[in-house]
Amino acid sequence: MNFEYDATTVELRSRLLAFMDEHVYPLEKQVIQLTHESPDEVPAFLEPLKQKAKAAGMWNWFLPEEYGELSPGLTNLEYAPLAEEMGKVPWASTVFNCAAPDTGNMEVLAKFGSEEQKERWLKPLLDGEIRSAFLMTEPQVASSDATNIETRIERDGDSYVINGRKWWSSNISHPRCEMLIVMGKTDPEGPRHAQQSMIIVPRDTAGVEIVRDLPVFNDYHHPGGHGEVALNEVRVSADHLILGEGRGFEIAQGRLGPGRIHHCMRLVGEADRALDYMCRRVSERETFGKRVADYSSIRQEVARSRCEIEQARLLVLKAADTIDREGAKAARDLIAMIKIVVPAMTAKVADRAIQAFGGKGVSNDTPLVHIYISGRFLQIGDGPDEVHMYQLGRNTIKQRLGQERLHAPYFDEID
Ligand SMILES: Cc1cc2nc3c(=O)[nH]c(=O)nc-3n(C[C@H](O)[C@H](O)[C@H](O)COP(=O)(O)OP(=O)(O)OC[C@H]3O[C@@H](n4cnc5c(N)ncnc54)[C@H](O)[C@@H]3O)c2cc1C
Repeated sequence: MNFEYDATTVELRSRLLAFMDEHVYPLEKQVIQLTHESPDEVPAFLEPLKQKAKAAGMWNWFLPEEYGELSPGLTNLEYAPLAEEMGKVPWASTVFNCAAPDTGNMEVLAKFGSEEQKERWLKPLLDGEIRSAFLMTEPQVASSDATNIETRIERDGDSYVINGRKWWSSNISHPRCEMLIVMGKTDPEGPRHAQQSMIIVPRDTAGVEIVRDLPVFNDYHHPGGHGEVALNEVRVSADHLILGEGRGFEIAQGRLGPGRIHHCMRLVGEADRALDYMCRRVSERETFGKRVADYSSIRQEVARSRCEIEQARLLVLKAADTIDREGAKAARDLIAMIKIVVPAMTAKVADRAIQAFGGKGVSNDTPLVHIYISGRFLQIGDGPDEVHMYQLGRNTIKQRLGQERLHAPYFDEID
């Protein structure tokens, strides 16, 4: 694998940095203030800024070239360094229409949607006119094993009727959220991985009710938030089902692979920014007659952080490259690896930076708290670390035992 960014990435990244310097970074402080003063409001500058990014062709870069005309034509490998830069500001990926959970939903529709579904929902999502949410997790069952999910999707004539309760439905409170993708059971008696289906539910359908907003470490992440949602006798036309009954797991695989790698790409950028902050701070302060930067313990923390960020970045690039060349299925283990490595690394690097900052580190004067929290909650979101390790461990043992030459002789068995 060649580690150099190709000419396309170099060019787009330099345009992206210029755009971020001119339009995004100057608004960071204002957004933090706005989020505290009127959290439900979408900042007024956001839509004009999206239009500016779109007009500049800095739009939908997340959707890889395999989607033909729908895609701006980048590979995952080319997109990774761009997502890394967007990740440095929490709301920046929205400006470029590259924000979760819309990106995952767009990939689902692009990959599995009918022509009508694409026209009705994918088009406005790709245009950045509407937002969306993805409803899989449920409060009453351990949802990291999605076979537990209990929401019912029942056929009734030309309709499906949905009943259940969801939570952690990110983005559902966003004023522009118009479409939900809901996972539930169409056939609870069927084979374990063929019971589930996914269905599109227009946000304003009768019976969709946000019961409460859930905070993440005391922050509601508005506008958008994470809702607990009751689905009571929610009726949608049968053509809202995606792909077909019993295909929910197949779709989930298609959705979560790319979604996970995008989160990891952004987190590498967040961790990198935390290290920038740490390096600046320790170089500016003195204790006991010495710059903080000159203490051996601090240099070790800086050095460790740099190593860990670079390791994580290279692993993400390898996963992206493998998806491009061999498909998401072949990259399954690498996607699990980055999901295990990158959020934990981000939280750790941010934690070290916070410590090196002293009191300022836990304030809102820097993005460090946000970065720490992103790394921490993404050890749970998109599937907890343990589940990825459980599967990666199983695959690894199987692969090692299956390989032609298992290089593990017991010396006491050799004559
Ligand atoms: C900020 C945030 C946003 C989210 N956004 C969305 C969203 O938009 N849509 C959506 O559907 N969901 C969303 N989620 C939900 C998230 O995907 C789930 O929380 C996650 O999959 C875990 O499911 P659970 O909460 O039911 O935990 P459980 O399944 O109850 O698991 C709890 C714990 O059990 C342990 N565990 C489970 N399995 C194993 C194992 N095999 N080995 C060892 N230990 C294990 C782990 O420690 C795990 O954390 C979001 C979550 C957060 C925090």
